[in-house]
Amino acid sequence: MESNSTKLKKNHCQCGGKIQIKNNLFGCENCHAIVYPKLLGRDISESEALSLLAGETLLLHFTSATGKAFAANAAIKNGKVTVEIQK
Ligand SMILES: [Zn+2]
Repeated sequence: MESNSTKLKKNHCQCGGKIQIKNNLFGCENCHAIVYPKLLGRDISESEALSLLAGETLLLHFTSATGKAFAANAAIKNGKVTVEIQK
């Protein structure tokens, strides 16, 4: 699924827009897609945020409030990060 063009565009949104980092928020200045520095209580690294904005789906590992580990696929849909929890 991963192509070379995706890798080269790592600092750009999937729409081709430039990504701005402001107050730890990662946002596309063209389509206004946004990635917050926290997702379900987990820190999102800069490289993870850039990958999401580049259109990649990431399998991320989380720990729930009750201490249970779980994994979820994260991807940008309609400008926001959406997660799909894996069973
Ligand atoms: Zn964009």
